Amino acid sequence: MSSYPFHEIEPRWQKFWDDNKTFKAVEDNSVPEEKRRYILDMFPYPSGAGLHVGHPEGYTATDIYCRYLRMNGYNVLHPMGYDSFGLPAENYAIKTGQPPRKTTEENIVHFTKQIKSLGFSYDWDRQVQTHNPEYYRWTQWIFLQLYKKGLAYESDKPINWCSSCKTGLANEEVKDGKCERCGQIVERRSIRQWVLKITSYAEELLTDLDKLDWTDSIKAMQRNWIGRSEGANVTFSLTGAAEAHGHIEVYTTRPDTLFGATYMVLSPEHDLVQKITTDEQRPGVESYIDKASHKSDLERTDLAKDKTGVFTGAYAVNPVNGKEIPVWISDYILISYGTGAIMAVPGHDQRDWEFARKFDLPIIEVLQGGEVEKEAYTGDGPHVNSEYLNGMGKKEAIDAIIEGLEKDEKGFKTINYKLRDWIFSRQRYWGEPIPLVHCPECGIVPVPEDQLPLTLPEVKSYEPSGTGESPLANIDEWVNCECPVCGGHGKRETNTMPQWAGSCWYYLRFIDPDNKGIFVDPEKEKYWMPVDLYVGGAEHAVLHLLYARFWHKVLFDIGAVSTAEPFQRLINQGMITSFAYMRPDKVLVPVDEVNIDGENYIEKATGVRLEQVIAKMSKSLKNVINPDDIIEKFGADSMRIYEMFMGPLEVSMPWQTNGLAGVHRFLNRVWDVAGRPMDKGEPPAALVKVLHKTLKKVGNDTGKLDFNTAIAQMMIYINEVYREKVCWKKLWKPFVLVLAPYAPHLAEEMWRMLGYSDTLAYEAYPVWDDSLAADDEKEIVLQVNGKVRAKITVAAGTGKEELEKLAREDSKIAEWTEGKTVIKVIAVPDRLVNFVVKG
Ligand SMILES: [Zn+2]
Ligand SMILES: [Zn+2]
Repeated sequence: MSSYPFHEIEPRWQKFWDDNKTFKAVEDNSVPEEKRRYILDMFPYPSGAGLHVGHPEGYTATDIYCRYLRMNGYNVLHPMGYDSFGLPAENYAIKTGQPPRKTTEENIVHFTKQIKSLGFSYDWDRQVQTHNPEYYRWTQWIFLQLYKKGLAYESDKPINWCSSCKTGLANEEVKDGKCERCGQIVERRSIRQWVLKITSYAEELLTDLDKLDWTDSIKAMQRNWIGRSEGANVTFSLTGAAEAHGHIEVYTTRPDTLFGATYMVLSPEHDLVQKITTDEQRPGVESYIDKASHKSDLERTDLAKDKTGVFTGAYAVNPVNGKEIPVWISDYILISYGTGAIMAVPGHDQRDWEFARKFDLPIIEVLQGGEVEKEAYTGDGPHVNSEYLNGMGKKEAIDAIIEGLEKDEKGFKTINYKLRDWIFSRQRYWGEPIPLVHCPECGIVPVPEDQLPLTLPEVKSYEPSGTGESPLANIDEWVNCECPVCGGHGKRETNTMPQWAGSCWYYLRFIDPDNKGIFVDPEKEKYWMPVDLYVGGAEHAVLHLLYARFWHKVLFDIGAVSTAEPFQRLINQGMITSFAYMRPDKVLVPVDEVNIDGENYIEKATGVRLEQVIAKMSKSLKNVINPDDIIEKFGADSMRIYEMFMGPLEVSMPWQTNGLAGVHRFLNRVWDVAGRPMDKGEPPAALVKVLHKTLKKVGNDTGKLDFNTAIAQMMIYINEVYREKVCWKKLWKPFVLVLAPYAPHLAEEMWRMLGYSDTLAYEAYPVWDDSLAADDEKEIVLQVNGKVRAKITVAAGTGKEELEKLAREDSKIAEWTEGKTVIKVIAVPDRLVNFVVKG
């Protein structure tokens, strides 16, 4: 069978949709609110590598859904744009020796061409690009609203610094102690920074998660990142010479273990260290601090590493029993975490226990149940050695000790968050200038809103200096300016915003992209918001998704938007991985150095047998799939359907070109049927039944985003229809319509062949006759350890999970499995369920 002419069909329909603005979204007030949908993709940053196969996965899913919604009478907003400021674009420009604006804009042209070649139904008139001054004017405006609300402040506390990217990083950009972007181990460095007070929104960011229809795993990641805990702040006074320097404050979730606190540990960077260290201990302390400053947070907090520390010579007083306890410093305490000081309870914390053992500090058991001389006991148990807490359980003891501390004014109940304020400025060129002026007379002054955008100047050298100053600092004519308040000599802020700024609010600009007077018209905003479905990669769980929620909440609080949350429903598509080949010594071999013979994989150079494994696509393994090649060889419709047919949208799967070929064969068959003589008469009853089943299954599954099962049903249908010599119009017209969201080019072409002259994009979705679509029934045998114990009747094709559920509900099966352990359940659709039990 020769291939159908997708090379000719696909570009022609793409041009038709473009020319006719088929997918232009209009705020039509006659459409009732419940029939409006805002469906959003995470917009890409236009990297030099172009589109990879992961991009179209999410884009195809939303596109199918949008096309389905339009055919079901919904008014759909579905825009696309580019996240074009930031480090990736800038690093690419530096690598290729060209100005970032030039490379970014070239990349956008390339990306747009690639995205359009997949036939997505975007309203391209709404495109935004975050590096466009008309766009970032409003990014700057939102920053000023944050500044005016006291949510942006200057700080020179030590922050995470990437010496490779030559910029400060937010905590969210540090993964396992390394730069999220380049993998460099992050250092601590004190640099003047702009910081956003995201912590003011910690509680709302946490509790409002409950209102959202997001996957539990992403919600859990945000909850953990925000890290709310309840506990107490406890004050330890200092004694002896140190007494004059005040006290040490710690936060603990277990104040009930205070009687077991036998020493304290400060972070080497803690303010008190210099003040309380005795002369005798000073040399050791100084050299320890110096060593710690060269270690990354990752090295410092590695649980496996040998504990190190130095005694300061000072003592604090345990507030519950008046005992003097020594104050140490150790690098496993980070200044950025909590108060930078802890009370050590070695009996019940393993790290404290190891430290105490090493330095011969006392270990006291205060919770019964373990053997604290052997290891820390971290379980629960009645309190011992704890005076008035003795015999109490955890909750009772916590309440009692907090009451005691509050009465003595030695502590109080409090809530703590792990979330830290957002380090917002970058010492780089390619970002939004921060619209503030430093005036010697007036201090920090915002650029007046009517003077925005404050445009990014063209510079000769945009490479980062590494000095902690952005390249903008070298442009005198830009830096020196008039103070907007007193007219005196001022200097512009030279830090730029991080790459996350533009994506914090782009979904709002899509609603009203050309508005010159306001960032979004409130009426239009109300029309579309919130985003009904947001699809993108899970890697943004605590970056973009947290930052955007924060900005949105600020905008909500100043009355600029109508909803407290931006993204009502969120889905993370799985990753498309690839096969790779591994030697016995675990080294991966590039694909082009492997002889593949069936299931045998042999390294060409050595003859060594390799194991097929699943890995990320990477240039070095030569297993990257380029969408352009796929489209050239199989067409966009095949690529779209293949990516949706790989499995459920949220699951990661390896790319398999033979699967793609199978999908392409399916579309060839569709084309073959479409070219047959169309019979206007009545089709055979059996085929009508398959049609209605197909309409029902595809309709329901598409609405639930279960695209892989919908495609499987369309394949079943085509196999049935393909056997006939002719095609019946009654069978074909509705099928073309349900296929359309998946293979829009092919479907539009076949719609023409059926005699229609306009696009099918707004045709009514086919309705099915439930009585015709009804499933046949099947008798299912229920077994326990292979012996038949019952039979049930279910709809034919009932899936494994449902079968197992129905089987468990059967009273006979319940009897036979009672009191036994089910080791395994084997469910075979239309046939049987077997419970393998033990005991
Ligand atoms: Zn880096
Ligand atoms: Zn001034």
